[in-house]
Formats: sequence, C-alpha cells, structure tokens
Amino acid sequence: MKYLIIGASAAGLSAALKIRELDVDGEITVLSEEKSPPYSKMSLPYLLSGECSKEEDLYLGIPEGVKLLLDKKVVSLKEERKVVETEAGEEFSYDKLLIATGAHPYIPEVEKKGLPPILSIRNLEDISGLKERIKNSKEKRVILSGAGLVNCEIADALLKIGVPSVFVIRSNRILSQILDEEGSRIIESCAKEKGIELLTGENIKTVEERDGITYATLESGKVLKGSCVVFGKGVRPSVDFLKGTGIKIGRG
Ligand SMILES: Cc1cc2nc3c(=O)[nH]c(=O)nc-3n(C[C@H](O)[C@H](O)[C@H](O)COP(=O)(O)OP(=O)(O)OC[C@H]3O[C@@H](n4cnc5c(N)ncnc54)[C@H](O)[C@@H]3O)c2cc1C
Repeated sequence: MKYLIIGASAAGLSAALKIRELDVDGEITVLSEEKSPPYSKMSLPYLLSGECSKEEDLYLGIPEGVKLLLDKKVVSLKEERKVVETEAGEEFSYDKLLIATGAHPYIPEVEKKGLPPILSIRNLEDISGLKERIKNSKEKRVILSGAGLVNCEIADALLKIGVPSVFVIRSNRILSQILDEEGSRIIESCAKEKGIELLTGENIKTVEERDGITYATLESGKVLKGSCVVFGKGVRPSVDFLKGTGIKIGRG
C-alpha cells in the first residue's frame, strides 16, 4: 500500500507514525512545501526569545521508514489518476492520500503606502524576518494587531529580549476568544505592569513605511510608530489546491 501525506507538521507526522505502526510494510511518503525539516510551530516564540538558540532545537523527529520530501508544494490533485502534482511539475501517486496541510495566517486588507513590513507568525522564516526587521529599524517597538494566543506569545518573547510592543485590539479586551472578562483583566494588568501597551476598540486602517520606520494609522486617527506590524488574527485552512476537485470542504 502506498500512503501519501501532504504536510509535514504535527498532524502529518503523527499520522505517519500511526500508519507505520498499523502497516509495517506500507510505503509512506510525506511531502512538505517547506525547505527546512519539520519543526514545532508552537515553539517558534522560543526562537525569538532566545530560549531556543537555534532552529535545530525545534526540529521534530521523522518516524522510522517514512520518506520525507522537502520543497514539494502540492498545487493540484487528480483524483481519477490518484496523483498529486507539485509546483515544479512532479507527480506523486498514491493508494491512500492524507491532506494535512494545516492553515496559514489570515491578514486583513489594510491600506498600504510603500512596501511596509506586514508580518504574521507561522513558520521559521517569519521569526527570522521579524528579528531582521527589529534589528534594521530605527524604531524597535513592534505593533501587534490582534490579541489572540500567538500574538500574546510573541509579546512575551519580545519582552524577554527587551523589545517593547503595543497591541491594537478591535474588541474591548485581550484574549477575548478564549478567556472570560475576569481572565482577560488579569492578563492585561500583568502585561501593563511589564510595559506592554494595550489599545482596545481600535483597528489598523493604514500602514506606511518611511525612512526605516513603520507608521500604523488607526481608525481613531491615532498614529503608532514601530518597526513593523505583526498580524495575529487567526488562520485560514490551506486548501487552495483542492479547488475544482470533488473533495468537500467544510471549515477546512
Ligand atoms: C506561534 C504559535 C504558537 C502556537 N501555540 C500553540 C499552543 O500552545 N497549543 C496548541 O495546541 N497549538 C498552538 N499553535 C497552533 C499549532 O502550531 C497548530 O495547531 C499545529 O501546528 C497544526 O498542525 P497541522 O499539522 O494541522 O498544520 P500546520 O502546522 O499548519 O502544518 C501544515 C504543513 O503543511 C504544509 N503545507 C501547506 N500547504 C501545502 C501544500 N500545498 N503542499 C505541501 N505542503 C503544504 C505547510 O507548509 C505546513 O508545514 C501555535 C501556533 C503558532 C504559530
């Protein structure tokens, strides 16, 4: 039996491990669009804070006997022939296919002037991009749009390396999707005590870069200066390559 898994992260690799257990002779191939070996995405903030000093510290183990192929972005699926095609035009056939392509950050439409640094955190390059930007910008402060778990972890990591941050929060409190009001207020007071700024009931309208500084204009008209804007406004399923196939997609 030929198993093909698209996506080499938490879901894809744990599935590969389980399939290996259940079918010792099957051929298992995992395709990843990323160039680096699989790593723990939830540990990315540790790479920013320095608690993990190198990318290798985040690498995940590859189950024995599983073939991992990097830099293979799947762009289409031909169900009738049981093959997937990569961006480079290679085809991989399967008897059974598992789609474990996870999600990518949602970045809302904002008006941009010039080529402002707008980032989100989901992969290794995002962390190196953020570090680079902080290093090269005249203004160190990071503007965090959205106050969910990922941006909260980024604010905490920035604090550990002495980089200030400011949250722009559309709702009236931090972590509003996962905490009740009382919980949010506890986190907010800890954050403020540590020097993290919180602007609630606000939203970014325009982002502009001038002379190595990022300016974010909020709907209220207030202008924030920073090194970059990091959006943490949730994710969307990575299922574009399934368009036009017969595969039913719910929420992804
Ligand atoms: C900073 C951060 C902190 C987090 N903290 C936590 C936490 O504390 N607790 C928690 O439960 N979760 C946390 N998460 C979320 C957690 O990382 C994800 O839920 C988890 O990674 C999902 O795993 P997955 O395998 O489903 O998908 P993903 O991790 O999204 O992996 C999908 C993989 O498929 C690849 N891929 C996508 N499309 C294609 C394609 N067309 N062809 C080939 N490859 C493709 C992607 O490049 C990616 O490598 C955090 C995430 C981040 C970013």
